[in-house]
Amino acid sequence: MKFSTKAIHAGQDADPATGATIVPIYQTSTYTQEAVGVHKGFDYSRTANPTRRALETQLAALENARFGCAFASGVAATAAVIGVLSSGDHVIVSDDLYGGTYRLFSNVFGRYGLQFTYMDMTDVDAVRKAIRPSTKMMWIETPTNPMLTLVDIKAVAEAASDLIVAVDNTFATPYFQLPLELGADVVVHSTTKYIGGHSDVVGGVAITDDKDLYEAIKFQQNSAGGVPGPNDAWLTMRGAKTLALRMRDHAKNAQAVAEFLEAHSQVDRVYYPGLRSHPQHELAKRQMSGFGGMVSFTLKGDDARALGFANQLKYFSLAESLGGVESLICHPARMTHGSIPKEERERRGLTDRLLRLSVGIEDIEDLIEDLRSALG
Ligand SMILES: *Cc1c(COP(=O)(O)O)cnc(C)c1O
Repeated sequence: MKFSTKAIHAGQDADPATGATIVPIYQTSTYTQEAVGVHKGFDYSRTANPTRRALETQLAALENARFGCAFASGVAATAAVIGVLSSGDHVIVSDDLYGGTYRLFSNVFGRYGLQFTYMDMTDVDAVRKAIRPSTKMMWIETPTNPMLTLVDIKAVAEAASDLIVAVDNTFATPYFQLPLELGADVVVHSTTKYIGGHSDVVGGVAITDDKDLYEAIKFQQNSAGGVPGPNDAWLTMRGAKTLALRMRDHAKNAQAVAEFLEAHSQVDRVYYPGLRSHPQHELAKRQMSGFGGMVSFTLKGDDARALGFANQLKYFSLAESLGGVESLICHPARMTHGSIPKEERERRGLTDRLLRLSVGIEDIEDLIEDLRSALG
């Protein structure tokens, strides 16, 4: 089955009880047993729910994997993956990272005795040298949020040999990037973003083809219990059916926006992997089959100008999050990445002048006109 077919058919069999063509929302916490322990594979909805299972099957198939665990949010999925480690274990983490992931690692799991080294993972030799006897996992975000830096998944996975390699694939989505094929062991998504795709549901998923790792994550899912309810699972599943269509338009519009901004006299720098000026454009072409819908840039002038610009746009709403059909703009330093200390932000190029666009799938002429008039 090819990608678009899997998005529509994987896990989406007609309902065995009623023949309903679309997977029903199984709004139930429990299941009646014929006799003690005799049931149809479901006994309690934290452990398993048919609507959630359909979503897990669908999303695992999109990453060419057998196993998926859905969660109530992206950070809950991340917590479950990190939760397979033990106190004293060490994790190497790509340093330009979603702010909430940084907060979870540093301020929650750091207190439980896990150790994190944040580093520039574009330098694979340095990554190899950072491996200690206690190192158990590599955590990669690529492209990164918000600087759109790439990490070479294949090279890092080779350097990691028997360590667990986890990739946050939220920005690229499986439509444009398949980390498991490049040697990663587990993929995490905030399904809140492109997979859900309509800014109407929060969720996450961890996907792997490794049975043991799946069992360990599944144990976390059931033990810590950060599961999505059936309504949220259903909305996410519905969104994911159109992922291919949406990603094609997101990427087409983002490329046009990035090229427009790069050519504009008021724009200082544009960060988009699809631009020839992107320092890792060649890696992007090798590792991804498209460049996604996220564009970051800096304007000439000070941060007040950047904030003023963000307020003048008509179609780009000033909002956190990304990946919905509608265009959004955000000021990472004050919004999504506020939990990262300022010196740390600046070291990564995440200045107070940086703006991040989630380019939606509106008509591109309207989007460009909106940007042009706000710049003018
Ligand atoms: C939003 C996001 C997350 C966290 O997901 P939530 O659904 O908000 O918990 C993790 N990684 C990336 C790259 C994100 O953009």
